[in-house]
Amino acid sequence: MAEIKKQPRFRTVIANDLIEKVKQLVLVSRNIVITCHVSPDGDALGSSFALWYVLKGLGKTVNVVTADCAPRALQFLPGVRELVAATRQGDRARELLASADLIFCMDFNDPSRVDRLMNSLVNSKARKIVIDHHLDPRIEADVIISRPEVSSTSALLYLVLWQSHWTRYLNRSAAACIYTGMMTDTGNFSYNSNDPDLYLIIYDLMRKGIDKDNLYRLVMNTASESRVRIMGYGQYKMQLLPAHKAAIITLSEEQLKEFDYTKGDTEGLVNVPLSIPEITYSVFLREDADNCVKVSMRSKGEFSVSRMCEEHFGGGGHTNAAGGEFKGSLDMAIQKLLDIIPLYDEYL
Ligand code: 5GP
Ligand code: MN
Repeated sequence: MAEIKKQPRFRTVIANDLIEKVKQLVLVSRNIVITCHVSPDGDALGSSFALWYVLKGLGKTVNVVTADCAPRALQFLPGVRELVAATRQGDRARELLASADLIFCMDFNDPSRVDRLMNSLVNSKARKIVIDHHLDPRIEADVIISRPEVSSTSALLYLVLWQSHWTRYLNRSAAACIYTGMMTDTGNFSYNSNDPDLYLIIYDLMRKGIDKDNLYRLVMNTASESRVRIMGYGQYKMQLLPAHKAAIITLSEEQLKEFDYTKGDTEGLVNVPLSIPEITYSVFLREDADNCVKVSMRSKGEFSVSRMCEEHFGGGGHTNAAGGEFKGSLDMAIQKLLDIIPLYDEYL
């Protein structure tokens, strides 16, 4: 085994000086906080809790702090009951960030992505390490491991741990967390999933005892009645703009109420129109409270929805999955979208 470890088994290699810095910062720190982006998804929580288990294994005091709670579909995730969410424990979340000596920022690269915890994060005197796979980091930190070509932060974390010789601290629970992040950020290995490294990682996670079929069922194939109905209704209401190869789904606050919507119920809805071969990108507008519309976009191939979200909705993300926000009513958001869509025809 030792012999195999010395060989470059993985194609993705992280600079050794970054790995050494991470190891050194971890070893000299006692009180560590891990945080991830607002509305945490499988990758954000998966990478955070996998790291939580590893750092606990190394004898550290460690907490995972987020702006808001885990969605229902991820409540099963090992460790997630220990999450300190600012929506429920605001003071504690802020205190933990302020008193940490090291903060790991997982699955985001812009401080605004921690939402209400932004000031506490930015003002904390803690050393900071970013492990992330989004484009264009805009964050100050002591170490930034940014690899947009890696399909999930969870896979990237595994590679960091592997190069650190710390994968022995990945117990079965941590392995399940990493697998969950890898699975959710690739649509169960249906996009961004041609990198052979992913399958070497999975091989190791399975040897640590994960039940990948059960994880699929828990995360991707478990839904509430409201989710099943809302997904159907959203698809029924979909509008196609064939001339622009675009699809739009909108749900108003009133409609969401009618369907007894809870957070996470519309996860994945934006992906559905992409199954139509003539559609290159899909936009989902969800009207939240406070005159705010959440924008979610997905695309196929080279067409960049992160550019659209950055240029018009104060957001960003990846080429094929991005999001942002619109301040105003749903009708205003729809009008803005219809105005900008023709501007992107040249990239189709
Ligand atoms: P979703 O559509 O699932 O909410 O988000 C898809 C991806 O878009 C996320 O992984 C994240 O990278 C990006 N994203 C979503 N919302 C925002 C936002 O408000 N700001 C930025 N910068 N990125 C976002
Ligand atoms: Mn991610």
